[in-house]
Amino acid sequence: MAVADAAQRTAGLSSGVPTRSAVAFVVVLLGASWAASWLLGGAGRVVPHWYYFPILFTALRFGHAGALVVALASGLLAGPLTPQLVSEGLAQTSSEWLTRTGFFVAVGQIAAVLMRPALPWLAAEARRRRLERAARGALAADELELWFQPVLRAGGGPIVGAEALLRWQHPDRGTLTAGEFIAELERTAAIHDVGDWVLRRACEHAASWPDEDLWVAVNVSAVELDSAALPGRIARALATSGLPASRLCLEVTETTLVEQLDGSIARLGELQRMGVRIAIDDFGTGYSSLAYVHRLPADILKIDRSFTARLGEQEQSEAIIGGVVILARTLGLETVAEGVERAEQVPWLHELGCDMTQGYHHHHPMPAGAFAALLASGEVAGRLDDDRERRRERRRER
Ligand code: C2E
Ligand code: MG
Ligand code: MG
Repeated sequence: MAVADAAQRTAGLSSGVPTRSAVAFVVVLLGASWAASWLLGGAGRVVPHWYYFPILFTALRFGHAGALVVALASGLLAGPLTPQLVSEGLAQTSSEWLTRTGFFVAVGQIAAVLMRPALPWLAAEARRRRLERAARGALAADELELWFQPVLRAGGGPIVGAEALLRWQHPDRGTLTAGEFIAELERTAAIHDVGDWVLRRACEHAASWPDEDLWVAVNVSAVELDSAALPGRIARALATSGLPASRLCLEVTETTLVEQLDGSIARLGELQRMGVRIAIDDFGTGYSSLAYVHRLPADILKIDRSFTARLGEQEQSEAIIGGVVILARTLGLETVAEGVERAEQVPWLHELGCDMTQGYHHHHPMPAGAFAALLASGEVAGRLDDDRERRRERRRER
């Protein structure tokens, strides 16, 4: 979470770790408060309220113990170490400076107990607002891009579709992958604008690909799925781009579905009736999969990459993938194994009955231009023809 981390660092106050600069800041504030009282003629001429700044800062930054030390130091500086009147060298009465010290201590402790616990929430809120503004700025400045990762028919090809993955060409941090910012962005209202942009761009790109059977998969977040406007947005993106609904696949994560099952089922059903395909992403990472999966209006199960990664290393992974394939077939769904990184996983997944595979071993996600060039290369086009035939056969069989 590069963007989120940077924002957290700038929030400063949220961290309870003492840093040299924070301590130096408190010392400077105390010194300035003391000097100001002297310069203005002593405690009799001004009430030294400015000591509350270092006390409150320390309470929020370091908690009770720090607040107590700084309150006592402030009491001393504003009391015995500041005369009542500098010009006459008149000292303050002890009752006066002891009362003031009592206030310093009380305010510091109250701030540490009542205000400090709210800081992480405030810092998170500030971070979200910054990210929301930055994401809207990125949309306006054309810094967002869609990259595409091919999905292959199991056994090593051909390409049957591609997943659209969001990338942010950040002016300071370079290319940010979706994994680095999307979860945080999903907690802001900007996800709707970004999601809409992703949908429109993905449909436009897919409509320009040479093979008219190739589908594009778009990731949809929980908040987007929760919005009644989603079917309308999808219909508009399809109409504007001219892409048939059957060539669009929406990926929703299993966790999203478990969290808002009834609402999701209704919305996904509506989308499926429009002809859009639905894939359950990261399948196997949520809970109670078997209990709900038969209720879902889905076409594809994407087996999470953690299972693919352990293939050949842990016997259970083979059993789990085999089990998911059987479950999917029973329910009339297709399967995609995600995260294929090693050559030996390809025949293995094929034997286990997976329909499609996706991962770095085949192709890393690539910019739209590189994907278009890959499609235009003869080898892939030839394989596409084979696959189209195979799919037609399957449809005839059904
Ligand atoms: P996902 O949908 O499961 O996408 C797959 C993620 O795994 C991508 O990360 C991809 O780059 C990475 N990946 C692909 N093959 C391999 C592999 O062989 N090994 C490993 N280790 N990783 C692989 P990315 O692009 O950072 O996206 C992360 C997640 O962010 C996605 O997971 C998806 O849930 C979400 N996401 C991506 N684009 C969008 C978007 O446009 N909108 C929304 N709402 N979410 C998005
Ligand atoms: Mg996905
Ligand atoms: Mg996934």
